[in-house]
Amino acid sequence: MSRQISYFTRTSLYAALALGCFVTHPPAAVRAQSGTATPAYDIYAVRFGVLPQFPLSGLVAGADKEQKLDIPVMVWVVKGSDGRIVLVDSGFYREKFVTRWKVQHFSTPAAAVARLGIQPDQVSDIIITHMHWDHADGQDLFPKATVWIQKDEYEYYTGDAWQDANRRGGGADPDVMLALVKRNFAGQLRLVHGDNQTIIPGLTCYTGGRHTYASQYVGVNTVGGTVVLASDNVYLFQNLDAHRPIAQTLDAAANLQAQDRMRTLAARTGLVIPGHDPAVFTRFRAVADGVVQIAPDRAGTAR
Ligand SMILES: [Zn+2]
Repeated sequence: MSRQISYFTRTSLYAALALGCFVTHPPAAVRAQSGTATPAYDIYAVRFGVLPQFPLSGLVAGADKEQKLDIPVMVWVVKGSDGRIVLVDSGFYREKFVTRWKVQHFSTPAAAVARLGIQPDQVSDIIITHMHWDHADGQDLFPKATVWIQKDEYEYYTGDAWQDANRRGGGADPDVMLALVKRNFAGQLRLVHGDNQTIIPGLTCYTGGRHTYASQYVGVNTVGGTVVLASDNVYLFQNLDAHRPIAQTLDAAANLQAQDRMRTLAARTGLVIPGHDPAVFTRFRAVADGVVQIAPDRAGTAR
């Protein structure tokens, strides 16, 4: 065997020398494809509308019932050092949602991500954190993307949830579910099997937040360490700061445990990014209208 290897090595070397193209290092493109390094991602929070005067008590368990605030609806663009463009959540666009919720400053999620120069066909993957209309409706705006969702979430909200109105929760919508089922029929939906699943190099899905039946959150590798995109498993920074569960959860104790875990996963607590906090757009650097870059530096601090 060793003779064979040596023979082929020598043969290749002579061939390379004869052609005058002996290369001591592989070209950059080959190195990138070799997969030795985990890709680092740039992360952008993209606001595509505002829900006016939302009650704080609907976001933070036990909060003042009188207090209200305008909350953003957003998607997260995760752009890889390998050129890959992933969305975490896809927002919404169907007219009934825009009208019913009196959404202000609305643009479709596709128009909103275009502020970063991204066209819909460039999005290769969409990670849906949970089935609610404000996070999953917009997936069919991005026709070439593969959609990733927890298997238990998909199966529950396309099946058992509709056997009993009490098990559905407020945010599941038949049109959203049907569109996702069609995506599956088209071969563009991938089911994530539970907790701590790295579905794309540098992107890991976690469960346990219990905002919905099997809601997930995403750990994203960046040059400054891990950023956790909590989505609605944490509504506001206030949930983390006051150690209060989200107001809409199937299991408040599990939600708090998940929040604690997110802190350990993130490079620092400020890099656990909630689903609807207006402060996301003031704590981080604006790069376009309604777009901030969630960019920890190498020391893990915000810039
Ligand atoms: Zn939401």
